[in-house]
Amino acid sequence: MSEHSRYQELRAHLAFLRMTAAAEALPAALDEAKAANLSHQDFLERLLSVEVEAVDERRRASLARFASLPSPFTLADFDFSAQPSVDKKMIDELATLRFIEDATNVLLIGPPGVGKTMLAVGLGHAAVAAGMRTYYTTAAELAARCHRAALEGRWATTMRFYAGPRLLIIDEVGYLPLPAEAAAALFQVVSQRYLKGSIALTTNLGIASWGKVFNDDPMVAGAMLDRLLHRSVVLNIDGDSYRMRSHRARAEATRKAVAGS
Ligand code: ADP
Ligand code: MG
Repeated sequence: MSEHSRYQELRAHLAFLRMTAAAEALPAALDEAKAANLSHQDFLERLLSVEVEAVDERRRASLARFASLPSPFTLADFDFSAQPSVDKKMIDELATLRFIEDATNVLLIGPPGVGKTMLAVGLGHAAVAAGMRTYYTTAAELAARCHRAALEGRWATTMRFYAGPRLLIIDEVGYLPLPAEAAAALFQVVSQRYLKGSIALTTNLGIASWGKVFNDDPMVAGAMLDRLLHRSVVLNIDGDSYRMRSHRARAEATRKAVAGS
């Protein structure tokens, strides 16, 4: 076989295996191998590492797209000095993602603006970076999606969808009371992930008032809390809204500037 047809054969193999990055890198890699007198082993290692990197990059990008995280902020962006009720050691421990290994849930409880969403999303980014399938939703979105699914006969598929990710973030539970059907959907999602996959859940409601989310149905609220809390980390965040805080700081600076002029 001529060198040229062997080269064509090699390209065809790579194309058949869908190793597009390696196929593209092949001519340069061959030239390099010749020029540097590389061993077969070194040549093959270099060519394959190009492909591995490309696949890894694609996988990461697709995980990030799927996760639908609503902001780019990571845990490193969180200002702990602004929020003394958040234990940095606890967040550092969560950032190791060991909690996902044993399907522990994380409950972030506190009033608006204290950084609940930011922390949950930060955990999401950490999980995505570690190659873990993650999905972010608000409770309202989850309810709407389940409602559509019920109408269109896709309930089981949708429940499987919410069971899939290693980490499911459910943001803003309790901001709106859930209709009975939505409460049932949330209950089923929590139940089927129980001891199998982690949920990071944010809520403005203290645990004692969870009945409200479920139309004052204390049975459902209790059953759901049992499953959520059984293996969980609860972060009670109190203190000032970060938005209000920076708003106040700006107002203060303006006031000083005006007073000084
Ligand atoms: P919550 O979900 O508790 O209502 P958010 O996480 O949405 O609060 O935070 C409100 C805003 O303030 C966001 O823009 C967030 O990035 C910012 N923020 C809140 N807490 C902090 C913090 N400790 N350090 C930096 N930014 C913060
Ligand atoms: Mg929020």
